[in-house]
Amino acid sequence: MSFRTIIEPFKIKAVEPIRLTTQAEREAILERAHYNLFLVRSDEVIIDLLTDSGTAAMSSEQWAGVMRGDESYAGSRSFYFFEETVRDIFGFKHVIPVHQGRAAERILFALLCKPGCVIPNNTHFDTTRANIEYRGGRAVDLPCPELSDTTAPHPFKGNMDTDALERLISEVGAENIPLVMLTVTNNSGGGQPVSMANIRAVSAICRKYGIPLYIDACRFAENAYFIKLREPGYADKTPLEIAREMFSYADGCTMSAKKDGLANIGGFLCTNDDALAQQEKELLILTEGFPTYGGLAGRDLEAIAIGLREVLDEHYLEYRLASTRYLGEHIAREGVPIVQPPGGHAVYIDAGRMLPHIPPLQFPGQSLAVELYRLGGVRSCEIGSVMFAQRDPDTGEERPAPRELVRLAIPRRVYTQSHVDYVVEVILVAHRHREQLRGYRITWQTPFLRHFSCHFEPLSPPSL
Ligand SMILES: *Cc1c(COP(=O)(O)O)cnc(C)c1O
Repeated sequence: MSFRTIIEPFKIKAVEPIRLTTQAEREAILERAHYNLFLVRSDEVIIDLLTDSGTAAMSSEQWAGVMRGDESYAGSRSFYFFEETVRDIFGFKHVIPVHQGRAAERILFALLCKPGCVIPNNTHFDTTRANIEYRGGRAVDLPCPELSDTTAPHPFKGNMDTDALERLISEVGAENIPLVMLTVTNNSGGGQPVSMANIRAVSAICRKYGIPLYIDACRFAENAYFIKLREPGYADKTPLEIAREMFSYADGCTMSAKKDGLANIGGFLCTNDDALAQQEKELLILTEGFPTYGGLAGRDLEAIAIGLREVLDEHYLEYRLASTRYLGEHIAREGVPIVQPPGGHAVYIDAGRMLPHIPPLQFPGQSLAVELYRLGGVRSCEIGSVMFAQRDPDTGEERPAPRELVRLAIPRRVYTQSHVDYVVEVILVAHRHREQLRGYRITWQTPFLRHFSCHFEPLSPPSL
């Protein structure tokens, strides 16, 4: 007998109380935080969907691993356990631990990215783009054309446009492209998966031109399960088998264990290139630590190694994708425009379509994110022109991002269905009075990654 209801495949062993704030309290908090939700304190948030990064609930087995952690400076037992696990799943020769994904990016690009170089990706994550630009390189997004239609339910909208990749290589020359990256799932592109066929095709192009392919592996397990569900020929394979095949087409990867590592901190950098690995370890020692801990405690390495096994459990992945889909379907059914189909780790509301009266450079996504917090204490994240507007290098003029999205990222194993039902209710209330929402103006910002710290001011309602 099999049942229709997909349950959370775990029991709750420790709980953390949620402080229930009032709307008046939240309005004062917003003013104090300059309407930037990154500047709101977590105990002022009721349901925190800001990110799925580092927010997972660890299992009892992971906590047991924390106790077993070997904190030796060199040659820690926990490192060898970690290295063996990563090698077994990802298949790369060299495994370099780092404190989080961007540290892997920084080390990789410090060695491979020279000023003027070009690094394509299906869609660069914000820290990836910033690390490339900081080195004077050009980060180019080559998403497949289906991604720009947020309403089309294509199964693999995270794919890279392989024709565009070929064109870019012939335009700038393979010698100016130190590596190609492929982000699975495509986070900034809506948490959409990349098909095995696309990974294979991108890999074949890279090999033809002698360009290394790196996978940004943050959500590799969610991507593997999407392949199992949606790509012909994979239904009978395990997520582990699918993951191994995905990485077999690449030369290395960057990974944030704060995502599909089910850990609260950590990451790693992998490569099959011996000489590069040596240089990477030298840089690692300079800023992260000795190669058998790389800026992490032994206990973190244990938690990550155990998390990497748990995340590939089929029941976990079934529940994970079902719970994201549940949120997406319940708001879409009531007319809220979302990126279709819902992604693996998050639901993206298309604030550009929901709030057409707010121009992109008045940040409709920010406006909606602030409103969800004001109404219900729900914290989400703008992924639009606050995060990705680009400055014209000649005129200095700001150009809007291609899409104005609000991401509702679901922390792993943290919230139950009733928490999600509450979020649905808050969104539907905001949707009902959407015409009253106003745009914002930035009053202070930093040159890189401004969304983390910039200050906003609400604009006056448009005069009628
Ligand atoms: C989170 C993330 C990163 C960076 O990882 P951190 O651990 O936050 O430094 C890189 N790429 C993608 C796709 C991510 O989601």
